[in-house]
Amino acid sequence: MLDINKIRADFPILERKVHGKPLIYFDNGATSQTPTAVIDTIVDYYTNYNANIHRGVHTLSQEATDKYEEARIKIQKHFNAKHSYEIILTSGTTESINVIASGFSVILKEGDEVIVSALEHHSNIVPWQMMCEKAGATLRVIPMDEDGSLRIDLFEEMLNVNTKLVFCNHVSNALGTINPIEKIIKSAHKFGAYVLIDGAQACPHIKPDVQQLDVDFYVTSAHKMCGPTGVGMLYGKQELLEMLPPYQGGGEMIDTVTFEKTTYAGLPHKFEAGTPNICGGIAFGAAVDYMNAIGFDNIQEREHQLLDYATKKLLEIDGLKIYGTSTKTSVISFNIDGIHPYDIGSILDKLGIAVRTGHHCAQPIMDFYKIPGTVRASLSFYNTEDEIDTMIEAVKKAKMMLS
Ligand SMILES: *Cc1c(COP(=O)(O)O)cnc(C)c1O
Repeated sequence: MLDINKIRADFPILERKVHGKPLIYFDNGATSQTPTAVIDTIVDYYTNYNANIHRGVHTLSQEATDKYEEARIKIQKHFNAKHSYEIILTSGTTESINVIASGFSVILKEGDEVIVSALEHHSNIVPWQMMCEKAGATLRVIPMDEDGSLRIDLFEEMLNVNTKLVFCNHVSNALGTINPIEKIIKSAHKFGAYVLIDGAQACPHIKPDVQQLDVDFYVTSAHKMCGPTGVGMLYGKQELLEMLPPYQGGGEMIDTVTFEKTTYAGLPHKFEAGTPNICGGIAFGAAVDYMNAIGFDNIQEREHQLLDYATKKLLEIDGLKIYGTSTKTSVISFNIDGIHPYDIGSILDKLGIAVRTGHHCAQPIMDFYKIPGTVRASLSFYNTEDEIDTMIEAVKKAKMMLS
């Protein structure tokens, strides 16, 4: 059992008041809060060894380089990648996806097919559309079901010898539903298609093993798993990362440069042009350490308790509907009959409760349900039943005021 009070003490922001009320932070799906261990790592970097990496011979530069590479190894171990150079540090999920989409836009040919799921975040739709347009490839979509699951039966029918790439999120950010990625990866591989999994919404709850999954590419952001914003990772199998062209030109990504020809550096530097988010990368490593110290089994057990508790209480409210009811993480997307989600969100904010309202960068899902958006409460292991009770009372109050 987790000692919740001890864990909450790790997050100084939870002491805050909003509109005179204690902050209740249920917007973890947008970004998670930051524990002292990570904040201290950031302060330590800028206080003691802020320097550019890889270039300098001086002590500070060496210290920064060592810490940055240590962080890469922590991340490698966390995701069980075979080699540390298969972990590319990026500015986040969005950039990681763009690295792959941009690379494949010169590899794909006319007639090739690319499959995405209907549950995607916009950052996992738009880059593929751009890529397909450039390459003349066709984008196909795995339909979703009413309960927020994917129609895997239809996916299996869509696969054929022309399928080159499949993109799917591990967990839907709008609904919290968990996709059967093992199955998707296995089926795609039968046709020789590569699979990219967007793990941005999964990594706060699940510890993926990229070798066991046999996934080709796996991407995530640090800021949804207790790390800072502006840093994330791209895992790719070595031979695939070697096959892809670099994403950006610049310093650090080259081997030799002349005006006739430039040869590129090896992995991971080929994809890390320019000065990276050094402090962010190091803090990402600290976030991974923090979450592993708590333990993903403990996190999942605790979040499931919270999810079950909140779901049961919310469903007692007349006219309240929850979207996405298949296997899921601790994300609850809901609406109340006849009330706009934004209005509920505004009242909750006045009461110190942070939820997200809107389409959650997943417009096609909202179109599927024919709704403008939802109220999304995304819970984390540091939340409590008391906070859920306060939200339930607030939702009831909002319903009374608005209907
Ligand atoms: C948050 C999120 C993204 C985008 O992550 P950034 O950190 O903004 O790049 C992509 N996909 C999913 C599923 C997300 O939840």
